[in-house]
Amino acid sequence: MGLVDYHNHTALCGHATGTVEEYIDAAITRGLSEIGFSDHAPLPEELREGITMRDDQPEEYLTSIQSHALKYKTRIAVRTGFEVDFPLHNTFDQRYFTDPRIDYLIGSCHFIDGWAFDHPSFIDGFSKRDIDDIYSQYYEIMKDLIFSEHFHIIGHFDLVKKFGHRAKKDFSKEISALFNGTRHSTAVEINTAGLRKPVQEIYPSKDIISLLFSLNVPVTLGSDSHSPDEVGYEFGSAVEMLKHAGYRKISAFEKRRRYDITL
Ligand SMILES: [Zn+2]
Ligand SMILES: [Zn+2]
Repeated sequence: MGLVDYHNHTALCGHATGTVEEYIDAAITRGLSEIGFSDHAPLPEELREGITMRDDQPEEYLTSIQSHALKYKTRIAVRTGFEVDFPLHNTFDQRYFTDPRIDYLIGSCHFIDGWAFDHPSFIDGFSKRDIDDIYSQYYEIMKDLIFSEHFHIIGHFDLVKKFGHRAKKDFSKEISALFNGTRHSTAVEINTAGLRKPVQEIYPSKDIISLLFSLNVPVTLGSDSHSPDEVGYEFGSAVEMLKHAGYRKISAFEKRRRYDITL
């Protein structure tokens, strides 16, 4: 069975290129069994320029993905999702939490107290704060994200390392606490985009993947592609890391129902 790539953007967000067809064709060429679109859900106007679609565009987006799913259904499964910023903004229509068209929602944190910490223009924010405070705030947000139980997948789990800033403290206790008391229904995305960023490492790190395995947390795969040539990016390395940690299956989603794919 082929792999899934559940983290793909579209030109609607303003910082991705290529057509939906080109992404799907790339997924077919690379032998994936499923491709899922999870474009950035609308952020408020003052934050979204070049980052997300406008708040009048989600329907156009969903209609487009749904019609491609129909067109390609004999060749590849095309899934419909959003990457939703957490904490939530009022520009995200909460009806999408229960919309029958949606296969999964990825919850992601790109802002700490309004600071776009993963945006290259705001990298100087790292020199103004204590690195362990940044990590601690970030994992607090992840905790609220997971405990909200709105999301099927956690996006780029340790994104805060993107530019290579490492915590001094060991956060494995905090990370384990994220999964205590939850129903473990949320899968963590193994996101290969980190290999294209200064940190040059998959999100999350090898050590965190091993920790997640010991906690019985399900995982899935995403390239975070912003152009068709990035679809399925470095999935060989991702699968190798997963197997090394002990994983023998990944999670896939259809209409929010989770099922396993054997690695
Ligand atoms: Zn993006
Ligand atoms: Zn993201």
